[in-house]
Amino acid sequence: MTNQNVVISDAKLGFSMEIMVSLYDSAALFPQAVPKPLSALGGGGGGAPIIWTKPSFKKFETAAVGGGRINAWVDSMRASSPTRRSSDNEENKSWILNHPSALSKFEEIMNVSKGKQIVMFLDYDGTLSPIVEDPDRAFISSEMREAIKDVAHHFPTAIVTGRCKAKVYNFVKLSELYYAGSHGMDIQGPIKGHKCRKSNQTVLCQPAREFLPMIGEVYKILLEKTKSIPGAKVENNKFCLSVHFRCVEEKKWAELAEKVKSVLKDYPRLKLTQGRKVLEIRPTIKWDKGNALEFLLESLGYANTNDVLPVYIGDDRTDEDAFKVLRKRGHGFGILVSKIPKETNASYTLQEPSEVMCFLKRLVEWKSLSLQR
Ligand SMILES: [Mg+2]
Repeated sequence: MTNQNVVISDAKLGFSMEIMVSLYDSAALFPQAVPKPLSALGGGGGGAPIIWTKPSFKKFETAAVGGGRINAWVDSMRASSPTRRSSDNEENKSWILNHPSALSKFEEIMNVSKGKQIVMFLDYDGTLSPIVEDPDRAFISSEMREAIKDVAHHFPTAIVTGRCKAKVYNFVKLSELYYAGSHGMDIQGPIKGHKCRKSNQTVLCQPAREFLPMIGEVYKILLEKTKSIPGAKVENNKFCLSVHFRCVEEKKWAELAEKVKSVLKDYPRLKLTQGRKVLEIRPTIKWDKGNALEFLLESLGYANTNDVLPVYIGDDRTDEDAFKVLRKRGHGFGILVSKIPKETNASYTLQEPSEVMCFLKRLVEWKSLSLQR
């Protein structure tokens, strides 16, 4: 008798499990040590005994594509793109206890804001708009637009997004906002005047300007390289690129990551990061959504003061840079949009864009009431 460890995985269900199989004749059953489907491994009929061990998500991918480093990337792609609620109630409870709903704690947040200028920072995809299959159709509702407009009437408000600034402006269509596109590498002030605005210049900050030709070149190469993968979509965000995999079958994720990484081998001044259902290609300069937040606060005249309460709402890993800045400053709140427990530096949570809209509306009501007092 021999024992063999076998990894069983199901891409659709998103699980992986390692089992040990005791065999009397392994050569006959596993001539090439190929993992068998669960049903073939002792599903009755006097087969070999199965010993279950703990689930192992790290072993999800086998060596079919790319080796260990690509496997780690695919694990990471999966972790940053969860699609299901955790079935672990204890995990959910503990997470919600540590990151309560910004709606249920609304009064608490407003109490902290007394005597301070609230400044709103809003991510776009998955925060104001739902995550949709076609990123070019991530529209916001007119009700959401109205809520943002009302918020911007009372508080300086910025959209901070990985997208191209012009594209997100076309979605939002509000000229009174600040827009920080390309993960904050392309910042523009309101076209309409704002009472908190100190400068008449339209473009405020483009720290990665020298990378423009390189980004354009890599965009063309990525379009060519990824066209064989159904559902993959490359988006040019001006100072960075996105490779969306929200429409790519999970079994193709490793191949996609491999192709993107192979292109970047020739461009050491670009780096690869991940967002929600998206791979991001960005310049290696140290500038992210957290820097954009700090830059905007400084532009508004709130660099070294406690008289401000920045509130940042976002849904993915790139927003964590801004949440971290708020934690470090010791004032202001990060609000993570998620239905699923995630490791985060945010203080509060909202479940989905509809809750973000409720929060924005309550903020406006609260401000209107406080002005009447
Ligand atoms: Mg987002």
